[in-house]
Formats: sequence, C-alpha cells, structure tokens
Amino acid sequence: MNVSAWGRLSATPHRVVPLFDRASSAATLRAESGGVALGMGRSYGDTALNSGGLLWSTRGLDRLIDFDADTGRLVCEAGVQLRDIQRLFVPRGWMLAASPGTQIVTVGGAIANDVHGKNHHAVGSFGDHVTRLVLLRTDGELIECGPEQRSDWFAATVGGIGLTGVILLAEVQLRRVPGPWLDTESIPYGTLDEFFDLSNRSEADWEYTVSWIDCLSGSVGREPSGRTKARGLFMRGNHAMATESPPLRDSTRRVPFTPPVPLVNKLSLRAFNTAYYWLGCWRAGASQQHYQSFFYPLDNLHEWNRIYGPRGFYQYQCVIPGPGPDSSSAIQAMLREIGRAGKGSFLAVLKKFGDRQPVGLLSFPRPGVTLALDFANSGADLERLFERLDAIVAETGGRLYLAKDARMPRALFESGYARHAEFRAFRDPGITSEMSRRLMGD
Ligand SMILES: Cc1cc2nc3c(=O)[nH]c(=O)nc-3n(C[C@H](O)[C@H](O)[C@H](O)COP(=O)(O)OP(=O)(O)OC[C@H]3O[C@@H](n4cnc5c(N)ncnc54)[C@H](O)[C@@H]3O)c2cc1C
Repeated sequence: MNVSAWGRLSATPHRVVPLFDRASSAATLRAESGGVALGMGRSYGDTALNSGGLLWSTRGLDRLIDFDADTGRLVCEAGVQLRDIQRLFVPRGWMLAASPGTQIVTVGGAIANDVHGKNHHAVGSFGDHVTRLVLLRTDGELIECGPEQRSDWFAATVGGIGLTGVILLAEVQLRRVPGPWLDTESIPYGTLDEFFDLSNRSEADWEYTVSWIDCLSGSVGREPSGRTKARGLFMRGNHAMATESPPLRDSTRRVPFTPPVPLVNKLSLRAFNTAYYWLGCWRAGASQQHYQSFFYPLDNLHEWNRIYGPRGFYQYQCVIPGPGPDSSSAIQAMLREIGRAGKGSFLAVLKKFGDRQPVGLLSFPRPGVTLALDFANSGADLERLFERLDAIVAETGGRLYLAKDARMPRALFESGYARHAEFRAFRDPGITSEMSRRLMGD
C-alpha cells in the first residue's frame, strides 16, 4: 500500500505488516527483517518510512496491562494511543506527564522520538517518565531496560527513532491532576527580548509555556530601542482546581479535500498572521481551558495537513542552545531569512526548553530555545532557504528535530547529535528506514 508521512511530500509503496502480541511479533520480525516500526504516522518526515520496503504497524499492540492507582504507574503495549490514556485516566485524576501537540500518537512513537510538550522546562520529555520498556530485536532477543536497568539500552531506545528494535511494552509514570481544566493566560509580545523575558519570568510559576510567533514579523525592522521586532502571543497555563467549569464544546472539523494549490501563500500568510495577532491582543488575558483544546488544538481539525496542497509540506524545527545573547540573535537571524523569503506558515511556535539534559542519545530537546514552523513544499527555492537556516543552526551548535525532518544533510545531523557514533552500537542490523539510510548511510 502507498504510505506517506504527515508532511505528505510523497506517497510510496510499502508492505505494512501488523503486529499483535509478543509471540507473533517475534515470529514476524524473525521471518523477515529490513523493516521499521510504524505507529500513527504522525512524524512529518521519513523517520517511519521505508519506501519499497517493510513497515511493522504497531497499532494492534493496543492493550493496557496494569495500573497502580496509588502510584500512577501504567503498563501498556506500545501501540496504545496517548489519546486513550488521557481519556481513560484524566477522569480518575491522572494524566501523562509530558505529551506533544497531538494526542493521536502511540506510546512507542512517543518514546522513539522522545517527544516533548509545553512543560518541558518543568518535567522534561516523554522519556523522563518511562520507567521500563521491553524491546524486541529482529533476532528474537527481548531486552528489558529502564533508567536503572540496562540503562545504556534505555538511552539508545528513547529517541532512537525505532532503530534499536521494536518496543513492545512500556511502563509509564502518570502525574496527578485535579481535573481536565487549566487556568491559562495569553500575553501579546512585540520583540524577542519580551518573549525571553516572559519565558524567564513564567518558568517558576507556570507549568506550561509556549508561544505563537508571527514568522514574517522578524523582517519588518527594529524598534527605536534597537530591539528586533518579532510579535507573537505568549501562552501559559497551570492545572486548575476547578469545581465549576465551562462546558467542553465538540468542535471537530475535517479538511474535506486536498486543494490543487497550497492555501498558505505570502499574501494569505501576512493577512492571517496580522488578523490572528490582533485578535489575540483583543482576547488577551486569563481564561479557563480544557486540556484537549490547550494541549492539542490541531486535533480538532482532521487532516489539516491537506491545506498545503498536493506537494505536501516540511516542518523545520530546530533548537538553538542557550541561554545567552547568541540564541536570541540566531533566532533573529532566522526570522529575518524567513521574512525576506516571504515563506512559512501561521503554524509557528517558539518555546524555551528547560535545563535538563536529554534522556536519549538522540533525544532532541536540550537547554535552549526551539523554533518550529511549517513550509509548503515549493521546491528548490525552499531548499535554498533551508540551507541558510541550517547554516545558522550549525553555527550555534544546534540541531534539527528528527521527528519533523525529511531533508537535513548528514553533516548537520552529525554535528547536532554529538552522540550519533555511540548510538551505532545499539542499532538492530535487521532494521532500516528512509531516515537511517539518509542520515547514517544504512
Ligand atoms: C499536529 C502535530 C503536533 C505535534 N507536536 C509535537 C510536539 O509538540 N512535540 C513533539 O515532540 N512532537 C510533536 N509532534 C510529532 C509527534 O509527536 C511525533 O512524531 C511522534 O513520535 C509520532 O508518533 P507516532 O505514533 O505517530 O509514530 P510514527 O510517526 O509512526 O513513528 C515515529 C518513530 O517512532 C518509531 N516507532 C513507532 N512505534 C515504535 C515502536 N513500538 N517501537 C520502536 N519504534 C517505534 C518509528 O519507527 C519512527 O521512527 C507533532 C506531530 C503532529 C502531527
């Protein structure tokens, strides 16, 4: 069947073989190797692609196995979706400690990309809350590992983009929550200094912080103070002890078809960003939000990835090491390049990561600031912009996020992921993906 990643750059033939349980998974992997695990396919690039080859779909590994209501330890198979965990456990006063901007991802996919959420500065990434996992190798060996047990295998598998084996099962530590609601605040900002100031001042008292940034605003010049303009909306939130809460509206919609050309272009982008910013200024202030709309706003619009048209899109997500003036000036330089090119999209996020060291050898988060934004695929001119952005990232010692990537040069992977050579020793020789061949040569 034809499979494409979330970026829809191309749909290529794959043989998709479902996995169901431990015994049959072992038999399947032993019978034929040369594949890679596929969860919900929410990665944007080629990390879960293997054109012309084999994918092991983990969606059938969907059982919850054990839950300790005193400690919040959940044991489940790796194909369980984060959405199901949240739905089942939030009413019982427990929630995933870290989760990404969509809950339509599997536990295995969340571990293999060591995903992060809006509270990275407070709790780290998904892997920080995994206490044990069971890994199946293509030769049939089962490796049980965790932060305290065979921790070298754990560090390789968390963020290991599926290349160390297939994760069959995981034990995840949930955190207590008073309910599904959050007290939130939205604050407009006009410069990067204001963004950094808001981030720094919010870190101690707000568990969740993130900002929408107008990706074209960095090109419009400087304020009289000399600071670069970069307008956006800073959002922060904490779990609410709500007794009475507004009703949750079900506002799910679907993009009904793929338009022949991208709906995002220079004109629509400028108009949308201006309207969104001023609407945000008008609505700024405190409000109470349900966790689903605060954490996963895009999950309400099914197949939104169609808006970029038939050629698909890229997401460029980098982390610039920090803190320090260099990280601010690197973000400024990137915004100027993006503004000059008149590209990008309204889906643009700027967030400061916390100081924790990453759990995995190839984990993406590190102390610094991350910028993420989508670009409709426009071919060679877009690649030229990416090369200019890559040069800025490389100069700061930063890196691109593997979950989003479909094109980074191998040299940038090797400079950004300093432990890539160490990782090699843990690779399963029977596993290969489009990304592994592109970035690691096999
Ligand atoms: C709207 C949207 C918002 C997002 N927001 C964020 C965000 O805020 N933060 C963030 O970090 N990410 C974010 N992401 C990225 C997403 O969280 C990750 O790509 C996630 O890993 C996808 O999980 P999946 O189940 O779809 O896995 P896939 O995309 O199917 O696979 C991802 C990787 O995991 C491997 N894998 C999957 N299952 C297993 C298994 N059982 N054993 C071993 N390897 C396995 C695959 O081989 C592949 O390398 C977002 C994605 C979308 C679409």
